[in-house]
Amino acid sequence: MNNTEFKKYPIYSFSIKVKDGINFSLQEQWIENRNMFKHELSKEELDNEIKKCIEGILARKKWTIIDESKTSLGKYIEMSAKEAGLKVIDQKIGDVCYDSWVIEWFSHKTIDEGQDDKYFLDSFEEFVSRKEDEIAKSRENPTYCLMGAEDRWRWSGMIYPENWNKSQGFDKIQRDAPPPCRCKYCKEQGVVRINH
Ligand SMILES: [Zn+2]
Repeated sequence: MNNTEFKKYPIYSFSIKVKDGINFSLQEQWIENRNMFKHELSKEELDNEIKKCIEGILARKKWTIIDESKTSLGKYIEMSAKEAGLKVIDQKIGDVCYDSWVIEWFSHKTIDEGQDDKYFLDSFEEFVSRKEDEIAKSRENPTYCLMGAEDRWRWSGMIYPENWNKSQGFDKIQRDAPPPCRCKYCKEQGVVRINH
């Protein structure tokens, strides 16, 4: 298959700078977000995405703060974002780019418009090969991290038992299902994923 046949979608990136209000910490950090959408977003839609993201960060039940007076593991303290007095102090919007897949934490996802498994696997192979070439060319200063996707044997989907919920435990999830992942969460989000 010619790679021009693999559909590319707009990927928006934006960063949110936060600071927590605990006296011994006062950490400032940028949180980077990246997400793929089926269509281009208007300014209002993008602002709304950023707003939802900020709300999510401020509502986090677990936020790790750092006590610089301690060393090693002892310096990480968990509390809710609210308890930590977390504040958003800046934000910036990056350039929109177009690609066939977008990275997440040890997985990639793309929009599901009803294509079959072979289409997604061919598309992901083309994407990974292209990124491998890019990485090889940018050796001194790698432009991308595939997070293990370069090992084709890691590619997998997930199968959740029927009516699964968190209280049943994550060990009940089958993690070596054939890729791409079309689990109920992927379906709800209108995407397929390849975990690696
Ligand atoms: Zn899934």
